[in-house]
Amino acid sequence: MDLHGGPCAFIDRTALRHNLNVVRSTAPKSRVMAVVKANAYGHGIVQVAQALLGADAFGVARLKEAVALRNAGIGQPIVLLEGVFAHSDLDIAAQLQLDVVIHSFAQLNMLASWSSARRLSVWCKIDSGMNRLGFRVDEFAIAWARLRQCVQIQQLRVMTHLADADSRDHQRTPQQITQFNHAVEGLNVERSIGNSAGLIAWPEARADWVRPGLMLYGMSPFADSVAAELNLRPVMTLVTPLISVREVPAGEEVGYGGTWRATQATCIGIAAVGYGDGYPRHARSGTPVCINGQIKPIVGRVSMDMIAIDLGADSAVKSGEPVILWGEGLPAERVATFADTIPYELVCAMSQRVALQYR
Ligand SMILES: *Cc1c(COP(=O)(O)O)cnc(C)c1O
Repeated sequence: MDLHGGPCAFIDRTALRHNLNVVRSTAPKSRVMAVVKANAYGHGIVQVAQALLGADAFGVARLKEAVALRNAGIGQPIVLLEGVFAHSDLDIAAQLQLDVVIHSFAQLNMLASWSSARRLSVWCKIDSGMNRLGFRVDEFAIAWARLRQCVQIQQLRVMTHLADADSRDHQRTPQQITQFNHAVEGLNVERSIGNSAGLIAWPEARADWVRPGLMLYGMSPFADSVAAELNLRPVMTLVTPLISVREVPAGEEVGYGGTWRATQATCIGIAAVGYGDGYPRHARSGTPVCINGQIKPIVGRVSMDMIAIDLGADSAVKSGEPVILWGEGLPAERVATFADTIPYELVCAMSQRVALQYR
C-alpha cells in the first residue's frame, strides 16, 4: 500500500456496482437516479458516474457538477435537484440537455420567460411537509397548470422529498406520502419520492423513480443499523500510515490541551490524518480506528495533521503500519457517532489533500 505519508481514500468500484444492484433488487419496478452531488459524497463525481453507468439518471445539486459530468462524456440524463437561478443557466442546461427541478414560482416565471429553440425536461417539486423546497400542496394545482402551458418544457415529472424517512416508524413519512399522492392524483406523470432511507424503509416511497445517494456509497442512513445489515458494501476506505510510535508513562497527557491522560504506561501511535484532511475535530477520545484488524481508540484532541491512538502497553505495532479510519472493517456510521455527526458529513468533508485511488 503506497500511502506517501498521508491519507488516501481507496474507492471500490465493484462495491458501488454491488450497491446499485441492491437498490435495483429493493425497488425492482423503479428507475434509479443515482445521486452524485458534492463530488459523489466525496468519492469523485466522474469516476463514480463512470462506475454507475447502469443507473438511469444522475442527480446533482449544482450546475458545475452537471458540467463536470458532461465534460467527462456522461450521456445519461442529469437532474439539477435544486434547479437553476438565471436565464443563462437555462441556456447551459438546454445546451447540455440537463433536466431541471422547478420548486418555486420564481423558477417557474424564469422558465416561462425564457426564449430558446431548445426545450427542457422538468421535475416539479412538491413540498409534502418538509418545508424546504417545493410548491406547497395547496399551490400545486396552479403551478401545474402553468407548467403545462410552458412551451419550453419537453417532459414533466413530479417529485417530493421525505424529511424523516430514516426513522423507521415516524408518522410524518406516511403523511408526506399521502399528501404527495393526493396532490398528483389522476395525473399521468412519472413520480419520485424516496431517497436511500425512503426506498429501503418505506415501500410506498418506491415510485417510478428512486433517488439513492448514501446507500450507493455503502453506508446506512439509519442510526440503528450499519451497511452490512442492509447487504451494502462500503465503497470508501480511508487509510493513513502511522508515522510515529512512542511510550507514554502513566499520568502523562497526550495532545493539545491535555484532554486525555494515560492511566497506565502505554504505547501511543501517531497517525497522519487530522481536521486538515477532513477528519472530524470533534471525534472524541475513544473514536475507533482499525490497525491490523484490531480496533483501537484515538485519544486526546484531533490536530490539523495528526491523531493519537492508544495502542496498548505491549503493542508490537510499528511506525508505517496502515491505519483504517473508516471503510472496510470499520463502518463510517460507527465513527460518525463518536463525532456527533452522520456518515454523510464524514465523507463529504474530506479535503483536497486526501488522495483518491480507484480499484
Ligand atoms: C441528496 C438527495 C437525495 C439522496 O439522499 P440520500 O439520503 O443520500 O439517499 C435524494 N433526493 C434529493 C432531492 C437529495 O437532495
